[in-house]
Amino acid sequence: MHTGPLIPPSLRATALIDLAALRSNVAALRAHAPGAAFMAVVKADAYGHGMVECARAARQAGAEWLGAATPQEALALREAGLPGRILCWLWTPGGPWRECVEAGIDVTVSARWALDEVVAAARAADRPARVQLKIDTGLGRNGAQPADWPDLTRAARAAEREGTVRVTGVWSHFSCADEPDHPSIARELTAFRTALAQAADAGLEPEVRHLANSPGTLTLPEAHFDMVRPGVAMYGISPVPRLGGPADFGLRPVMTLAARLASVKRVPGGHGVSYGHLYVTPGETTLALVPLGYADGVPRHASGTGPVLVAGKWRTVAGRVAMDQFVVDLGGDGAAPGDEAVLFGPGDAGEPTAEDWARACGTIAYEIVTRIGARVPRVYSGEAA
Ligand SMILES: *Cc1c(COP(=O)(O)O)cnc(C)c1O
Repeated sequence: MHTGPLIPPSLRATALIDLAALRSNVAALRAHAPGAAFMAVVKADAYGHGMVECARAARQAGAEWLGAATPQEALALREAGLPGRILCWLWTPGGPWRECVEAGIDVTVSARWALDEVVAAARAADRPARVQLKIDTGLGRNGAQPADWPDLTRAARAAEREGTVRVTGVWSHFSCADEPDHPSIARELTAFRTALAQAADAGLEPEVRHLANSPGTLTLPEAHFDMVRPGVAMYGISPVPRLGGPADFGLRPVMTLAARLASVKRVPGGHGVSYGHLYVTPGETTLALVPLGYADGVPRHASGTGPVLVAGKWRTVAGRVAMDQFVVDLGGDGAAPGDEAVLFGPGDAGEPTAEDWARACGTIAYEIVTRIGARVPRVYSGEAA
């Protein structure tokens, strides 16, 4: 729990990132999957929390692997000096295969064109590429179709024999792991086991077979295989709000988003507030201006609904969220410019949570934290000694 001011004096707003909470979340998640290796998924700037700092903290907490979506993210991790295993998976033709091979990054291949490009890159780099093969077990996104899998695994094995490739992993991704009784889960587990057997038939011996995201890590032990790949839960957000909040899974939210009031003023009743005058003051009142808007990732859908802790109480965004700012009506309460408004945090100092914002905006908490913009400085606390 935070005591004292959250925001350094010269800043208008900050996303406070509690790295001690992140490390403790990694430990809690590892305890749910004791036999499995741990991949800390740090794509999308670590879901808005700051990729390099969170990757370092996850490593300190024992994460053997880092997971990135794009090769550019993976290369940035390496350039920041993070050693060890890094996997990325979202490739397009002509991508930086050679750079990744030379940086010792594990790359994901879902189709023949990708295998051909990585083999060419390995030849050019004169070192074998570490390749993980992805099967589509039913999500319908990336990954080889089961019909194409035997051919892809045989081609990868042939590349292994000629020394251009080492197949280090076979993996897939669930479609509905956040709905623990969904019938697709058993189907996708079966499809994954079939794909593993076919990969073995082709002669592949991957180091890691993996399938579980955060909900799979927390609720599906049969899906842990050799490694789990949690993202959102590592940032202290419940991946299955229906089953429980973060504390029910031993997790603590990592991000607190706070701003200093930029204006506090008395206005008469009948005063329109923000673009379109969607809100009109019901009587004489105090309006406070929060200097964060949709350019900072405060969803415009929060207009009239987003919750904010100001002057000791939950208030609601009054009228439209603008690009840089929004207003809250303090009713009869007082506040001063510079006072802190907390949009969301762990919730134990009375502030709303990212989950509260997700509910108010009709989205998921993943999207709330991930979209917090680059204009909001991240301020880190809880670094390991
Ligand atoms: C984003 C992602 C994850 C992490 O998912 P969470 O639901 O955030 O745990 C795991 N694996 C892949 C392939 C992903 O794209």
